[in-house]
Amino acid sequence: MEAFIANIQHFNVHDGTGFRTVVFFQGCTLQCKWCQNPELKSRIPSVLYHKTLCVRCDACLQVCKNRAISITSRGELTTDTSKCSRCFCCEEECYYLARRFSSRRIELKAVLKEVMKDEIFFRRSNGGVTFSGGEPFVQHEFCLQLAKELYKNAISVNVETAGHVPWQSIEKLIPYIDTFLYDFKLIDSKKQLYWLGADTAIIMDNLKKLSAAHRRIVIRIPLISGINDTDEEFGAMMNFLDTLETIRTVHILPFHQLGSLKYEMIMENYEMSDKEVNNQARIMACAEIAKKHGYFVDIGGSSFI
Ligand code: SF4
Ligand code: SF4
Ligand code: SF4
Repeated sequence: MEAFIANIQHFNVHDGTGFRTVVFFQGCTLQCKWCQNPELKSRIPSVLYHKTLCVRCDACLQVCKNRAISITSRGELTTDTSKCSRCFCCEEECYYLARRFSSRRIELKAVLKEVMKDEIFFRRSNGGVTFSGGEPFVQHEFCLQLAKELYKNAISVNVETAGHVPWQSIEKLIPYIDTFLYDFKLIDSKKQLYWLGADTAIIMDNLKKLSAAHRRIVIRIPLISGINDTDEEFGAMMNFLDTLETIRTVHILPFHQLGSLKYEMIMENYEMSDKEVNNQARIMACAEIAKKHGYFVDIGGSSFI
């Protein structure tokens, strides 16, 4: 069994207890306008083209049998992704690392072998493996099989999800998951449609079902200035969480711009390039609202109780 895996990151300390090895899955079902991993939204690998590293040797053009790469009228390289078969020949041919793909198909055995290299650190730090992305549940069968293998080896598995997937794909993983890191971004349905690009009633529905079935859920809120950090929106989100039984912890993740270059590399317009990064007063105000609702609050998302 294979999955499109973007990265396997070792020694992460933000996505669960102890040292975590994070497996980043390709693919997502949402289109959040503030996404900082836009290369992972597509279900197949995205082309990342680093213009400043490119020396225009044109080796990629010559190697592409599908003629997917061409030169624009401004003399720049461009890729027609509809013609690209993801053979990865152009990436291999580019000695300047100017051209690469966001993920590769990797065998389950190879992923397992890679994450198990950190076993001793998991045992000593109460750590484990975290599935992230993208949206891991887009490749839910692979997640399930990998989680089962890790469970057999008594390794803790966390999943970071936005919850916009069929309930069945979440449900079958429940027995093997230590902690769900559940993204909760907005409650207003019109705002959801505009900012996340989908009708997201399913996100709240899945969260209700999950909270009834699993005791360890950490709510993660990417806090975006003027969008979900108002008293009204944030307060309404807390009111919704109050109706669930098992939520104790809320992580507030202040918006950042670390992924903005990636939009240029995948040649997509980034609508939020001018968005204010860190409105400290609103971050603290939202943290206070969550605390008043009785939640343990962590700004940055590295504390787990
Ligand atoms: S092979 Fe790399 S350096 Fe050469 S033209 Fe293509 S992207 Fe640029
Ligand atoms: S991956 Fe293959 S088909 Fe796609 S642009 Fe590169 S060489 Fe062409
Ligand atoms: S859910 Fe996450 S990965 Fe998917 S589009 Fe939104 S921010 Fe990006």
